[in-house]
Amino acid sequence: SAETANGANAAPSAEDLKVYELSQKYTAEVAKRFRPEGLDQFVRLKDAGSERFRALAEDPWVDHVALNAKPPVKDGSKYKFVILGAGYAGMMYAVRLIEAGLASGPDDIRLIDASGGFGGTWWWNRYPGLHCDIESYSYMPLLEETGYIPTKKYVSGSELLEHADRIATQWKLHDKALFRTNVKTARWDDATQLWNVEVTEGRGPGEQNRDLTLQGQYVIIASGVLTNPHVPKIPELETFSGPLFHTARWDYKATGGTPQDATLTGLEGKRVGVIGTGATAIQAVPRLAKYAKELYVFQRTPSGVWWRGQRETDPEEWKTKIARKKGWQRERRLNFETYVTDNVQEGQENMVADGWTEMPGFSALLGSPRYPLVEPTPEKIAEHIGRLYKLDAPHSEAVRARTDEIVKDPETAAKLKAWYPTWCKRATFSDEYLQAFNQPNVHLVDTDGKGVDSATANGLVVAGKEYPLDILILSTGYVTPSIGGGSPAMRTGIDVYGRGGRSLDEKWKSQGASTLHGASSNGFPNLFFAPLSQSSHSANNVFTLDVGSQHAVHIIEQAEAKAGGSAIIEVTSEAEEAWALEIMKRAPWFASVMVCTPGYITAEGEALKQPEDPMEMAKNARAGNWTQGIVTFIEALEEYRADGQLKGIDVVART
Ligand code: FAD
Ligand code: NDP
Repeated sequence: SAETANGANAAPSAEDLKVYELSQKYTAEVAKRFRPEGLDQFVRLKDAGSERFRALAEDPWVDHVALNAKPPVKDGSKYKFVILGAGYAGMMYAVRLIEAGLASGPDDIRLIDASGGFGGTWWWNRYPGLHCDIESYSYMPLLEETGYIPTKKYVSGSELLEHADRIATQWKLHDKALFRTNVKTARWDDATQLWNVEVTEGRGPGEQNRDLTLQGQYVIIASGVLTNPHVPKIPELETFSGPLFHTARWDYKATGGTPQDATLTGLEGKRVGVIGTGATAIQAVPRLAKYAKELYVFQRTPSGVWWRGQRETDPEEWKTKIARKKGWQRERRLNFETYVTDNVQEGQENMVADGWTEMPGFSALLGSPRYPLVEPTPEKIAEHIGRLYKLDAPHSEAVRARTDEIVKDPETAAKLKAWYPTWCKRATFSDEYLQAFNQPNVHLVDTDGKGVDSATANGLVVAGKEYPLDILILSTGYVTPSIGGGSPAMRTGIDVYGRGGRSLDEKWKSQGASTLHGASSNGFPNLFFAPLSQSSHSANNVFTLDVGSQHAVHIIEQAEAKAGGSAIIEVTSEAEEAWALEIMKRAPWFASVMVCTPGYITAEGEALKQPEDPMEMAKNARAGNWTQGIVTFIEALEEYRADGQLKGIDVVART
């Protein structure tokens, strides 16, 4: 409550009361959904006990014949840069290295990926309705450099995949990739001053897998954040007798259609079930609703669904307003950031002008340059969360009101409303999802926060009722990126051993995240990570990755200049501790997620359990991020790089 001039408490305003009521409602919803099993309620598809689930993790799109026709990579091959991951991140690292003149030879770069081709997320995900949720003009990497004009404001997954291929062609990456290959370990060898990277290359049905050890002077872990599809441990799920698959490995044989053409004729006359209502389901459900005889959407927690505003790119607007001058994409991205980090200046032009730019509350997750650091006292933290609630309430109320406006049946509308602040889940945008629930063949099965109870050969069971189904689609998401406090090794499913055989995971477990700028860690020379912990994030992931790749490549460039050629680059422990302190100072800002409904942002609720051990608390704080938004983070990195001294990084010439 507000204080009067003489210190007495004034009566709370109507707005305060409303926000208080809202917070009470949100808290009750969290309690309803909290599950003590946390992350253990799911199993990674590729680790599942059931062979059926493990098979679901395989790559449906790989062309083994074409890949087997390529000259095989020889065991023991040596590269200057081994890049783990051939998604947009891995590709951006490769492009920046090439552009910096650091990788001009034929064996300077090798990108390794478990997938059958470039694209990462956009390789694996090909479900109907897939498109980027950040405007493509800002999201798609290297638009200025490729000169490509996206066809729509939010282009399809297929167009995003084609763009990956365009980048690979322009920078001649096709012969620098090793696909169908799982990286298992990366081991630093002090004697050779190289990384040994152990991989298994799959060669397809009837062919022998190949175990290889590749050597790299530098290793870059660009293995993505949402790469491991998981499935809830719903009893008897594997006994379902009809087709069953995860959205990240769509089965067009079961549904009909192709990734380019969502005419899902295979669903005609069929009863289709979808488990999950996250950002994926929001995009896929309208397409399924069009073709299925009956569609059952099994919901645990609804998504807040805001407007999309999809449209074709207008060539005139592109020329005159969007790609209007050199450097336009960076300018557009920076402009977008001011909205999502609650830092809009008066009179400023809103270049992107989409739904994202109407949710300043997202700054709870991204930080904001407008506010001082939050002091770590209960009062100041409560004040911070109160301010965020207030900032977010108009938007989250508008999202709920929109649900009422669109969904005709009031009972269904009520169940589709999201009762948590905007920042607790990826915001979603659609002009078709809520509308689909007005179709007579679309049925919402709301589980009241509990989830599906069990499965049978015929369908799914919720609250004692069986829903018979012919096809079942798992839209149940991915292993949380913050697993293991954001350890790049654990997230990637590999073992990384640095100097003296020290395990990277062990380091994270014993002392918490330890990096300089989220980019590299002491004891792990010449190893760089795509940004996760201890860096800064944008809602536009490609921007985050672009900033991270530019920073790492600058460091390598400056170090090699300093060393007069090949370098060994190692962050000092003093520098990483100083950086950890910077991050810990900012940790109270992220108390904002403590009010969130469980999901991958809260490690399925595990982040809500506050440890009592001060060491564990400190580790949690170290796994945080910069809280003044990515724009000031970029400024901090640029300032760091300006003198070329690489303060806090030891650089020696490779002998
Ligand atoms: P990825 O694209 O995930 O690529 C990482 C690659 O590493 C994968 O191909 C994986 O196979 C490989 N890999 C990982 N571990 C290993 C290993 N041990 N061995 C071998 N290979 C390995 N973000 C946005 O900003 N806007 C969006 O609209 C958006 N839409 C998305 C839609 C979906 C369905 C998903 C899942 C994510 C979306 N994201 C979006 C987030 C998206 O992941 C990023 O935007 C971006 O594409 C990530 O690129 P990346 O290269 O870092 O990771
Ligand atoms: P999510 O993790 O967001 O969603 C999984 C869904 O499965 C949730 O609705 C979850 O409910 C539900 N679920 C989990 N367990 C059960 C259960 N036992 N019973 C019933 N329901 C269950 O995964 P998505 O694939 O939807 O999205 C992951 C991320 O990928 C997004 O947040 C976004 O970052 C990115 N993405 C972006 C897209 C874009 O717009 N371009 C499109 C798709 C994804 P609950 O919420 O209660 O846990």
